Amino acid sequence: MIEFRDIHKAFGRNEVLKGISCTIPTGSVTVILGPSGSGKTTLLRSVNFLEKADRGEIILDDLHINVETASKADIHAIRQRTAMVFQMYNLFKNKTALQNITEGLTVVKKLSKAQAREKAIHYLDKVGLAHKSDAYPHELSGGQQQRIGIARALALNPDVILFDEPTSSLDPELVGEVLEVMKKVAQEVNATLVVVTHEIGFARDVADNIIFMDSGVIVEQGPPMEILSRPQKERTKQFLSRYI
Ligand code: ADP
Repeated sequence: MIEFRDIHKAFGRNEVLKGISCTIPTGSVTVILGPSGSGKTTLLRSVNFLEKADRGEIILDDLHINVETASKADIHAIRQRTAMVFQMYNLFKNKTALQNITEGLTVVKKLSKAQAREKAIHYLDKVGLAHKSDAYPHELSGGQQQRIGIARALALNPDVILFDEPTSSLDPELVGEVLEVMKKVAQEVNATLVVVTHEIGFARDVADNIIFMDSGVIVEQGPPMEILSRPQKERTKQFLSRYI
């Protein structure tokens, strides 16, 4: 379980998260929807302290972290259990697809080179890119690069995978292959998935739970059938009317 308790974050005078509290069950797929600038990415990045929230608590199973007093050990512990898939893939440009995956396994997880290689090949295969193991990022399409990003996250065997708008930098024709891989991950992997996206179709098909945010607060949350088909709040209705 991941729980946010009263998370606040401001950038200067811009209050971006205004007391976010919610619980995300273990093994579930949660999609965070909301207009641009509503704080979705900041909330996601606060989980692994890529963005340090100002106050509140983040709880991941037995790990209870008060963000104000978080120690290096707390941050290390939560980073060990989470992995992130970035909007811009964030692959090492001078490393092959395979090396992009083995890097974290040898450096962070302390696997031997042979073990890391075996694991990387397994996950490259899972995202349908075993044949591209020796390709460099510039030799791959955006969709393929993002699938490598997903394989890299999976290979770390995290409890939680955080997806930060994973398809929003892709040309429209490449979005589908990445969503397909994410769907497969949702079905086959036990990790808890938290996905910030504007892909309403993905949310409808794959999410167990949708959180709708606006202006730094959670406006409403619930299963896709409720949030997408019978939204209760005006702000949710307005947002969805642009998509549906
Ligand atoms: P969303 O993901 O919903 O589009 P974000 O969390 O990216 O929203 O951003 C919320 C607000 O925080 C925006 O007004 C954005 O400009 C601001 N913001 C995000 N990151 C930073 C930062 N590093 N420095 C200053 N302002 C930021």
